[in-house]
This record gives sequence, C-alpha cells and structure tokens, in this order.
Amino acid sequence: MTVAAKQNFGRFYDKVKQFDVTGKTLLIPDMAPFASRLLASCFHAVGVNALVMETYKGLSLGKEFTSGKECFPCQVTLGDILHFLKGEKERLGENFSPERYVYFLPEADGPCRFGMYNKMQRLVLDRFEEFRDVPITYVSTRNSYSTVDIMPAEAATIFRKLCYVTIIIADILDRIVWRVRPYELRPGLTDSFVQKALEALLEEVELRGASLEFNGLFDIVEDTAATARTFIDTRQPRRPLIGIVGEIYVRTHPDSNQNIVRVLEQFGAEVTVASIGEWINYISYDMARDQKRQVKLALLKRDFTSLRGALNALIPTQIEKYYQIARQKQVYKHALKHLDIEKDHAISLLEKRMDKERLYSFDIGTEAALSIGAALEHLHEGYSGVVNVYPFTCMPSAICTAVLKPLLNKMRMPYIDAPYDGAIQPNREVALRTFLHQAKQRLESRNSGNRNGKAAKCHIKP
Ligand code: SF4
Repeated sequence: MTVAAKQNFGRFYDKVKQFDVTGKTLLIPDMAPFASRLLASCFHAVGVNALVMETYKGLSLGKEFTSGKECFPCQVTLGDILHFLKGEKERLGENFSPERYVYFLPEADGPCRFGMYNKMQRLVLDRFEEFRDVPITYVSTRNSYSTVDIMPAEAATIFRKLCYVTIIIADILDRIVWRVRPYELRPGLTDSFVQKALEALLEEVELRGASLEFNGLFDIVEDTAATARTFIDTRQPRRPLIGIVGEIYVRTHPDSNQNIVRVLEQFGAEVTVASIGEWINYISYDMARDQKRQVKLALLKRDFTSLRGALNALIPTQIEKYYQIARQKQVYKHALKHLDIEKDHAISLLEKRMDKERLYSFDIGTEAALSIGAALEHLHEGYSGVVNVYPFTCMPSAICTAVLKPLLNKMRMPYIDAPYDGAIQPNREVALRTFLHQAKQRLESRNSGNRNGKAAKCHIKP
C-alpha cells in the first residue's frame, strides 16, 4: 500500500480486520431472532464472549448518519451499533473502554453492497472520538464464512460444525412456530413454549456444544416438535400456504419487515420463510461450483500444477457440502417425526429447475438465484402464493421481481413485492389483504378440483 493510500484507506485495514477476538466482547447485530441468539451461544461455547445487541431502537441514528442511498439493512445495523455503544458510554461513563468491544459485521464478496457495510460503518464510528477504537471484525463468503482468522484454529473447527447444526435448529424452531401458530388452541401458546425451548437449547449449546455431542440438542428439537403438535386445533382447515422469499436480512428480521409473517397470519395465511440454512448451503454449493470450473479449466489446458491446486481446494469443499446435506437431513428428521414442517430445498434441485426452464443462471450468483428457484419450487409444491420481501432498492431483489412477476402471473400464482425502508406504507395492508384473498381463491379452486395441482394439506392428527 502506498503512503497516500495508507493515510486514506489505512483504517479499513487496521480497524476492519480479522483477528483473534478471544477476551473481547463480540457485538452481534440481531437478525433472525432464534438464529442470532444461537450464534451468540456458539461463540460462548468456544470461549468468546458474544452478545446480541438490542435492535431497531437506534434506527433514527442509522438514518441520521447515512445519506439515504445505502441499503436498509446497513442503516438498521448501523443504528443498532450506535445505540448500543452510546448506551454503554452512558452506563459506564469514565470506565467505558472501546477496546473491550469488537463489532461483528459479516460481509459478502458478491456483486452487491453487502461487502461495503463494514467499511462504511467504520467511517461513521470514526466520527465519534469515543468509538474510534472499537474494531470491526467479519467473516466473509469469500472463504465460506471461515472463522480461522478470528479465533484459535481448534476452536474454529468446533465452532464451524456447531454453528451449522444450531443454524439448522434455529430454522426448524421457526418452522415449528409457523406451522403451529396459525392453528393454536390458545393464542400465545406456541410463542411462549418455543421461547422456553430456545432457552433450553442455548443452555445446552453453552454447556456441551464444544464437545460436538449433539444428542441433547436433537432431543430438545424432537420434544419441541412433539409437544407443539398438540397445540394444533385440528378442526381448523389448513390455510393457504404462503412462501416468503427475498433478501436474507429483511425477510428474517421481524422489525425490518414490520412483522410480515404475523400480519399474513392475522389475515388468514400459513407462512414459510426461506431459511438461513439454505443460504449457508448455497455459499458452499457456489464455492464448489467455482472450484469445479477451475478443475475443468486446468484439465483443458493440461496444466497439471493448477489441476492439483484446484483439486486440493475442491475436495474439502465437497466434503463440507456433503456434511451439510447429511446434517441438515439428520436434524430435520427429528422434527419431522412428529410435525409436518416444510422441508428445505436442495440447492442442486433449484439450479436444475432454473436451468431447465432457462430462467436464471447460477453463474450470475446473488440471492436472486435462491429466491427465483424457491418461488418456482413453491409453484410445484402446492403453495398458494409468494411474497418477495426485500430492502427498497435492493439489487438482487429487483432482478427477482423482474423474473418472478411476469412468470408467476402467467402461471396464475398470486405474487406480491414487499419492499421495506423503515417507512410505514398506508396501502401495504390493503395490498397484502388483496394478495391473500387471491391466495385463498387459488386454494379453494384447487380444493374443488378446478385446477391442476395439489389440494390443501390436512393436519396430522395428534
Ligand atoms: S442484497 Fe440487497 S440489501 Fe443486501 S447488500 Fe445487496 S443490494 Fe444491499
């Protein structure tokens, strides 16, 4: 780096960097409530003190220190960190010590702006003298979210496996809630019960997670699914099933999406949101895809040195991919024994479907690949409608809209875009109600056999 570059950009290297965070307090922005808390407990299990920051209370700060051109998740997470640090400064006064904290803000090396959030937020934190020494650390899609550079190597290996399992468990907890809550015998029963299950899981991860002994976790998942099933009032008919696809932060962060799942449930839907596990699997799948291309290229050139290097990179990625598939199946099996929650999509299947229908290439990448693929799957799985939830001006989500809107319209599948930027849109409720009315009509039409496709599912009798 030149001297001028060092002066101008040095802080992006010195204070946005990967380093061993042991002994610090790692500040995690909230996203999907179950997954964020389980992620913090995985850090605890390997000896890193982590906490999930209170969310959405600092949105006005996030908006004050951005220009309005940034992605909405950047404004929300910036607001969360500023709100937290200001609160700590106020609470601790003279004893506030910025070096105690590390702000954890992952990044992506894809074509959109997520790779720049942590740099942009560095600039904002540096505007506050008292926060200049709070370092930012990250994991990146570049090496499939490896944590080897932010904790000791042995801990990183344990963390990776534990984290994958707990993320799948978080997805399952969400799916249990979404499957049961619309039909619960008493309002509030499911939420309070699953909250207790989450607490038991957090304790189990912290106590025994580092041993990678997962049976205790699986037992809790199984008991949760078995008990939650008894909350269903089976006299209620199945509702139209709505699939939510879109940008991962806004679709999983209830404050940012103005609780769209609950709103749709209030209007008479059963909802499933695309999972976080699907995104993690996609990162590994995409990395293996790139590495396979390198292998083919080396073979074509008969370059055996490059071939050896490409194979050395590909083999561990493939192993990890198969590990994830096997683990995901194993964890889901425990819940599916008792409750018919929605399963996750295999990434290879999504790619095959899109290739066959020549709709979008995985070569372009981004979340659009998953959202378009999942929406198409929903069409074949008998869903009654699709909602695309995304931050206003999100680039991959705009691609999704461009592809999905005309396509699903042609297939007569109800579809709606739901962009969010923190503002309350007065017509959103009417739009969602109208969408759901169409979804109900689609379901009724199917149930009466007027259209090809599946009729509504029935409840499994408790
Ligand atoms: S996915 Fe959308 S919201 Fe996220 S960084 Fe990219 S453009 Fe912004």
